[in-house]
Amino acid sequence: MANKRDYYEVLGVEKTATEDEIKRAFRKKAKECHPDLHPDDKTAEDRFKEINEANEVLTDPEKRARYDQFGFNDPGMGGNPFGGAGGFDFGGMGFDSIFDMFTGGTGGMGARRQGPQQGNDLRYDLRITFEEAAKGCQKSFDFYRNENCETCKGTGAKPGTSPVTCQMCHGTGQIRQSGGWMTTVRTCPTCGGTGKVIQDKCTSCGGSGRTRNRRTCTVKVPAGIDNGQTIIMNGQGEPGLRGGPSGDLYINVIVKPHKLFKRDGYDLRLDFPISFTQAALGAEVDIPTLDGTVKYKIPEGTQPDTEFRIKGSGIQQLRGSQKGDLIVRVRVEIPKKLNDKQRELLRQFDESSTGKEYEQRKGFFDKVKDLFN
Ligand SMILES: [Zn+2]
Ligand SMILES: [Zn+2]
Repeated sequence: MANKRDYYEVLGVEKTATEDEIKRAFRKKAKECHPDLHPDDKTAEDRFKEINEANEVLTDPEKRARYDQFGFNDPGMGGNPFGGAGGFDFGGMGFDSIFDMFTGGTGGMGARRQGPQQGNDLRYDLRITFEEAAKGCQKSFDFYRNENCETCKGTGAKPGTSPVTCQMCHGTGQIRQSGGWMTTVRTCPTCGGTGKVIQDKCTSCGGSGRTRNRRTCTVKVPAGIDNGQTIIMNGQGEPGLRGGPSGDLYINVIVKPHKLFKRDGYDLRLDFPISFTQAALGAEVDIPTLDGTVKYKIPEGTQPDTEFRIKGSGIQQLRGSQKGDLIVRVRVEIPKKLNDKQRELLRQFDESSTGKEYEQRKGFFDKVKDLFN
């Protein structure tokens, strides 16, 4: 105990220092002589212990008062009065195990950082037409990809030189800091967590080890693909780190809507306008499909919004050879303007009606009659 330094002297504060001043001084000192920063300096560990002990006593009002009164010779506490009392004891513990206690261990983190790591996935929005989606197509597009620099093979160091171990973190990639009894671990700012520092930077990539290159991808888009579906090009993403596999390229397919057709699973839907006379008399019409027009006979007396199916004129199934149907909905159009002759003809038609022509109307007015009788 005789050669123990005064706690205030250890932290470099006045005897009148406030608790905040003591804490601040402790953090500064602890940072300066952190054993992780001085691995080859045996006295750093001792100095670090000394600082911790001083901090423990001086930030505890009761202990500080006793220390102020009795110094290291507190008669009320035999032997070492302060070491480990109700607090922290370094006895027999290496710094690493102590830090691991506080940080939950760094082994896993270190392994992740240093082991192989898969490259980043990339994403590309590929816009195709409705017909291209229905029938399949081959598409080429350009995209940008970060790749390992060809000049330095991804090391970032000028050819012929190698990165050296970072002096700040001694290759761990992490800086540990003590504040009070807590230890925080942060990424080394000097090497950015890699543990290596490049002294002679590669001029092609500026030391990053990566260059951004324009690449062309050719993809076969299968028939039947729908809007929002993804084609994955394995290994076409960014290269992996430390021998890890490349990422994937996710091609997000965006299908332009069609002017006439709407997709409903593998079926197509089409609204087809006909005149009220076609609906009443029946008619042979040309229905458009994705493969040209087909003839269809609309029967006499077709009601508005009637749907009919044209088998196999839909979309080819993504896996398989079956095709969906084309579902045609009849939209009956009533003329908004008539000439005198047309008006006269329709009046004659109406006068010739017996009322039996209109089933729904007859049924409806029968019910109205019931209502009032
Ligand atoms: Zn390079
Ligand atoms: Zn470092």
